[in-house]
Amino acid sequence: MQPDALETSLYDAMAALDIIDCHEHLGPEKDRVESQVDVFTLFSHYTRGDLLVAGMSEPDFRSLSDHDIPLQRRWELFRPYWQEIRWGSYARAALLAAQKFYEIDDINDSTFELLSERMQQANTPGIYQRVLADTCNIRAALTQCGSTDVGTPLLKPLMPVFFDTRSWEFLSNEPCVADTEVSSLDNYVEAVRRYVVRVKSEGAVGLKMVSNPYGTPNREEAAAAFDALRADSEMYLADPNPLKDYLADQAIAIGTEEGMVIAVHTGYWGDFRQLDPLHMIPMLQRHEKAKFDIYHLGYPWMREALMLGKGFPNVWLNFCWTHIISQRFAVAGLDEAIDLVPMSKILIFGGDYSMAVEKVYGHLVMAREDIAEVLARRIRRGLISESQALELTRKWFWDNPKDLYSLDL
Ligand SMILES: [Zn+2]
Repeated sequence: MQPDALETSLYDAMAALDIIDCHEHLGPEKDRVESQVDVFTLFSHYTRGDLLVAGMSEPDFRSLSDHDIPLQRRWELFRPYWQEIRWGSYARAALLAAQKFYEIDDINDSTFELLSERMQQANTPGIYQRVLADTCNIRAALTQCGSTDVGTPLLKPLMPVFFDTRSWEFLSNEPCVADTEVSSLDNYVEAVRRYVVRVKSEGAVGLKMVSNPYGTPNREEAAAAFDALRADSEMYLADPNPLKDYLADQAIAIGTEEGMVIAVHTGYWGDFRQLDPLHMIPMLQRHEKAKFDIYHLGYPWMREALMLGKGFPNVWLNFCWTHIISQRFAVAGLDEAIDLVPMSKILIFGGDYSMAVEKVYGHLVMAREDIAEVLARRIRRGLISESQALELTRKWFWDNPKDLYSLDL
């Protein structure tokens, strides 16, 4: 079924909007243009999961990016699994990117070589500008690449505050303390503060954590665990533990004092039982002044994530990644979010890509389709006018992320 005239009209109006992309993993552009690209660059990221689940072995997947193997041979490895995953939302973003940037209607036996040639030809300085700014109207993209040295004002970094407390080796090598000697828990927390102050001065606008199960922070128990870990390099501390609970809590407090947004991955990834959005509730209650940017609508716990937005003034709901997890889910989530939460709380788009910058466009097309579908239905039911609906899209794509992250644009 083709989108009707109303959906098309909404889509076209949204295509003219300036956009703040609310989450990427894009690194400096030179990393992309210095790498050899081909059709498999479009399958280097989330589609990996689909290919492995379809039965592709990990070594075969890795060989897709091995340019010493002829492209034809790699295509033959890929082809049977591509047939199985090509109708999914991840694959659609790749197909849309191939159509838009390389005039390749379908990725198949007769096009993979030409697509690869065209991608390599276009892999030149300015590709971020051409894809993100010129094609997508993206004026700023929040990115997490583990560095504030992103090389362009188009990218606004967020920095991780993950604490791997499993061993002293891991803990003492966390980026926030990697360049300092830490001899006590208080020492460690002070190093975290210096790190937050430094990355902020380098342009970072937020910190990133995950919605693991966190216990109530207890400084004494955390200090005991810290000292034990430091004294015994062989010691292994399982998750969850009081040290991690305390450090995560301190990081939120410090980030908030320093004016950073706390971005939180919720749901889907690996053993996603450890990433239930509901794990965040004690943190939301303890840190009333913090601003929590809750990512991904907690898939598959969509209603749980929505309820965080419903019940807590310090929560924003970020639809990054959702439209390529499943367009059905994103449509349902947005429709319910409009029923549930103030319109100032919705951040509607984040591509969530790293090397395959072209797929940001594919994802954005899917996001616009989802929004148009939801809003057109509401307009037809007489719940909102078309101009009011477009006013909402402007808030979701621009005003809300600009305000939440205090972006100077
Ligand atoms: Zn991400």
